[in-house]
Amino acid sequence: MRRTLYEDVHEDFRASFRTFLEREVLGEEGRYGEWERDGIVPREVFARAGQGGFLAMAAPEEHGGAGAEDFRFNLVIGEECQRAAVGGFGLGITLHNDISLPYFMSYCDQAQRERWLGGIVRGELITAIAMTEPGIGSDLAGMSTSARRDGDHYVVNGTKTFITNGINADLVITAVRTGVGGHQDRHRGISLLILERGMEGFERGRNLEKIGQHSQDTAELSFSDVRVPVENLLGEEGKGFHYLVSNLPQERLSIAASAVAAAEAALGWTLEYVRERKAFGQAIGSFQASRFTLAEVRSEVEVARVYIDRCAQALNAGELTSEDAAMAKWWCTELQGRAIDRCLQLFGGYGYMLEYPIARAFADARVTRIYGGANEIMKEIVGRSMGL
Ligand SMILES: Cc1cc2nc3c(=O)[nH]c(=O)nc-3n(C[C@H](O)[C@H](O)[C@H](O)COP(=O)(O)OP(=O)(O)OC[C@H]3O[C@@H](n4cnc5c(N)ncnc54)[C@H](O)[C@@H]3O)c2cc1C
Repeated sequence: MRRTLYEDVHEDFRASFRTFLEREVLGEEGRYGEWERDGIVPREVFARAGQGGFLAMAAPEEHGGAGAEDFRFNLVIGEECQRAAVGGFGLGITLHNDISLPYFMSYCDQAQRERWLGGIVRGELITAIAMTEPGIGSDLAGMSTSARRDGDHYVVNGTKTFITNGINADLVITAVRTGVGGHQDRHRGISLLILERGMEGFERGRNLEKIGQHSQDTAELSFSDVRVPVENLLGEEGKGFHYLVSNLPQERLSIAASAVAAAEAALGWTLEYVRERKAFGQAIGSFQASRFTLAEVRSEVEVARVYIDRCAQALNAGELTSEDAAMAKWWCTELQGRAIDRCLQLFGGYGYMLEYPIARAFADARVTRIYGGANEIMKEIVGRSMGL
């Protein structure tokens, strides 16, 4: 079905981002295979993305951004990363653009904007968001990283884990407990502080070894009596949980849209392969079983796409609800897993070889059902929205 979401300006942006990926990530300057082996994307790639105008597009022009508060530009980046089978790089850049930036845009005061936004746009200040701790993930309000007020500083102690961009990050939006502990205060006692590279007592742990998304640096962070100036508080003290809940729909739409794009990319690679590969004297795509599989994958992708595009319009109009985004996230990430698995099967043994993009896409896909809120939690949100 013809898509109506994008206009010419988005397609021009897509063409230039595609060129960036081809030159800086896959070919010429880029060495994606090496980054996958190294477990990290070199920091200068973010700077080059910044020079190309592919970071923090929504930031105001006075800070070097394009002032383009239009999530369709963000979606183009996520889609193209999936199409190029560079999901690990895609996660890092979409985390920076889709997930972190809104916190800086919405909750920074003027002085903070001047300190940070320019660097975020240029890719000189790479961002991360640290909510999850070794002991809690889904039950965010149960976090224990503490920030005790001491004069003009907070003193932060605790550990975060599974943090995307954890090694590369210069600015980490860190959820901390500033309020009095105890069950009654679980939500109101949370605040967001920006922890900066180089602060004494802020240590990075291991770059974690994962099933997929290998070029993405996912790390543990630990804080031991880190003195964070009060000027690094985002928004108001005690409102952190509210800020997180307000921004999660955009994060979930970003994940869902990339999931559909990943399934679509898998379909494209598979169509090409089944036309070429022969068995029993015929192209394997000409077996009815293969045709039915790919017909089902295509149908699911196209139907999901319409919902995602509608969600993107709702987000741009400020109308995307938590349950809209939760439905998109669980449905599309399950579709991604199912579709890529079925496509991989049609590659036979070659599908298991990492030199084929389908194999990497399979490994990269598994986590999307877990992060950004596990899919069971998404169903809780949808269920509760019906008063259950
Ligand atoms: C590669 C990767 C990158 C990540 N990036 C980040 C990041 O940048 N920043 C960050 O803060 N976090 C990040 N995360 C953490 C991620 O968001 C959490 O892993 C996720 O929210 C689940 O939390 P958990 O791992 O503690 O699982 P748990 O909360 O322990 O859940 C375990 C299982 O129990 C289920 N469960 C829990 N509660 C319920 C319930 N009420 N009803 C039914 N089932 C339930 C869950 O759905 C899940 O299946 C990342 C994780 C990974 C793997």
